[in-house]
Amino acid sequence: MRAVVFENYGEFPSLTEFPKPEPGPGEVLLRVAGAGACHSDISVYRVFEEGQPGAQKPPFVLGHENAGWVESVGSGVSERVTVGAAYMVYGPIGCQHCRKCAQGRETYCENAATMPYLAVGLGRDGGMAEYMTVPERHLIPLGDADPVAAAPLADAGLTPYHAVKQSLPYLNGGGRYALVIGLGGLGQIGVQVLRALSGATVIATDVKEEARARAEADGAVTVAAGDRQVEDIRELTGGRGADAVFDFVGADPTVSAAAASVAQGGRVNVVGIAGGTHEFSFFTNPYESYLTNTYWGSVGELWEVVDMYRAGQIRPEIERFAMDDALEAYRKLEAGEINGRAVVVP
Ligand code: NAD
Ligand code: ZN
Repeated sequence: MRAVVFENYGEFPSLTEFPKPEPGPGEVLLRVAGAGACHSDISVYRVFEEGQPGAQKPPFVLGHENAGWVESVGSGVSERVTVGAAYMVYGPIGCQHCRKCAQGRETYCENAATMPYLAVGLGRDGGMAEYMTVPERHLIPLGDADPVAAAPLADAGLTPYHAVKQSLPYLNGGGRYALVIGLGGLGQIGVQVLRALSGATVIATDVKEEARARAEADGAVTVAAGDRQVEDIRELTGGRGADAVFDFVGADPTVSAAAASVAQGGRVNVVGIAGGTHEFSFFTNPYESYLTNTYWGSVGELWEVVDMYRAGQIRPEIERFAMDDALEAYRKLEAGEINGRAVVVP
């Protein structure tokens, strides 16, 4: 079968022939419907070096945002799994023997350091291929919902959903403001989730005008990036700042803008992994404000994301790429030329 393979640290992936996988015990073979190209993949193949925290050893098939149809099942798989039906894939894979895994929070597996991989498409072969194998417990039924547009929700939906859900206590009440920085694959869904789950005014900012226009269509008030960005955000919030801030870029300028825009007692959540830092001291931050980071989300939360997708509350804007053009999807993602999320349709 054909697959997008990360072959060596620091190198652009290849589109190449790869052995079709066989489902092991408790696993299913999925015919992939769609695989989202996440900005984190760029860090996987361009930024991480061997031995660095987060680095996943090549070679493996990329693609940690997947949905597809069950083609066949391995030994011991429940008869409740329907061959031919469409399922969403929960990507993170933990040890299954610790308290975090027991809670369905495999992202925070206590034995992650000794696991051979973090997730499908992150150390283990992922879904940028015609077929992939997935442990049965990682499947969420999609019913009659479109599995192609669903695919990116496995990360670009789940990650903002988890971040927003944790911030809801800060947005609960009248006159609250949420700020979303970076309106790409994750940020566009972040705006939709905030609009659906909170009554807060959503302020959204991005360097790209098309990205801001998308957020406006989803009900956000937008602010351009640049010199006046923080001032404009302060003005929109009546000088108070935003009660919850989500940074879906995570670079020095966005982490600084996030910290400068948060209200007293508010919460900044850095989701982007660009490695930006921010000074924290008694004098540099609003009183009783919180600075945190979140990584992906739980399998239970992904069930909730699927519910929102099926209810039309989450509407990912996607650009489809045939397998032949899969590398073009990554080239465009690196160049900032993707609108919404690129999905490879094998
Ligand atoms: P993307 O490329 O689809 O979108 C990024 C957006 O940020 C683009 O619209 C871009 O124009 C905008 N942007 C870039 N620099 C900016 C700046 N200085 N100010 C304002 N906007 C700016 O990326 P994505 O796939 O949505 O991922 C976003 C980030 O989140 C990446 O760092 C990615 O690696 C990370 N990520 C984190 C998790 C997690 O669990 N924490 C999960 C998935 C992705
Ligand atoms: Zn575990």
